[in-house]
Amino acid sequence: MKALALVFLFLISLNLQAETIQSFQVLKENSQMHLIAERFEVKERNKTGFLVYVLKERVAEFRKLAPQAKMLSSDINLNLKNKMALAGYHSFEQIKKMAKVLEMTYPKLAKVVPYGTSRKGLPLFAIKLSDNVEVIEDEKKVMLTSATHGDELITTEVLLALTESLLKGYDSNQRFKKILNNTEIYIILVVNPEGFTRRSRYSGGIDPNRQYPWPGHPNRRTPVPAIDSIMKFYKKIDFDGSIDFHASGKMVMFPWGYTRDLIQTADHQVFDRLTTDMAKENRYKHGPISRVIYVAKGSSADFYYGHNSGLALGIELTTSKVPRASRIPGVVKEASEMTWKYLEHFSR
Ligand SMILES: [Zn+2]
Repeated sequence: MKALALVFLFLISLNLQAETIQSFQVLKENSQMHLIAERFEVKERNKTGFLVYVLKERVAEFRKLAPQAKMLSSDINLNLKNKMALAGYHSFEQIKKMAKVLEMTYPKLAKVVPYGTSRKGLPLFAIKLSDNVEVIEDEKKVMLTSATHGDELITTEVLLALTESLLKGYDSNQRFKKILNNTEIYIILVVNPEGFTRRSRYSGGIDPNRQYPWPGHPNRRTPVPAIDSIMKFYKKIDFDGSIDFHASGKMVMFPWGYTRDLIQTADHQVFDRLTTDMAKENRYKHGPISRVIYVAKGSSADFYYGHNSGLALGIELTTSKVPRASRIPGVVKEASEMTWKYLEHFSR
């Protein structure tokens, strides 16, 4: 019996093998920065330059562009490899079940809406939240998404907790009642199930958040079925706004990412006012993606805004992709007020 349990534990730990990602500080004087940003993940802009994440297998390639870069961490995903640290996080199977349970518990307010299958046949689904959830009403449509990068586990936990708060609080909380009575919210807890089940940022080796079209480049993409499906879904519902939750960095950002040019002035002012207000309590950095971090082509917010001028945000939560489970409630709190403010923008 004991031997069997050990084999089982071993299998679990194999299953949790995550990628090794190293972090580097690249000096702002580096003349190859634009190439680094094209090929690697620039996490944040700081006083002396940029924090960049690099997959261990690609460190040699990175080193050619940044020989002087200082390594800050030899493995930022240590928590992903620690069963204890992961104990408080939900698996994809559990997430699917919880969506069903929410639908059964709140039949008037929550409904599971499938919108496709992933590359390996995993289900893609949203949970629609609204009063009279069975019908499409003349209300603003908002999409909230998490786990576009499958290793950013905290994003799914936060979005799930916010979803539960809205539903549980509907009868007693006037604020939530107003939000659900006046908007149709579609929650997508796992955008990239392949990445999520493997605890990987990627889908089939491709960064999903670099595969959306951007102005002038409608086709420069490698197809990722999960991303194709969510783009189709976005167009079909014709969303008025979206938040794509990522981790980490404590930032609330809006288009453009692909260029340092600003979007048109009237829109910029709306985004700027809203994100300034959203960041009031949690003190997140805010502004256009390209200016808060660095130019990044192919991110979701550029596509959503470019498609129909939707109020598309990208949020980088907290300071880690997978904080210890005991820290989850704190991150939920950090994300709550700004999310309610965002939703209230559509329900006034
Ligand atoms: Zn991300």
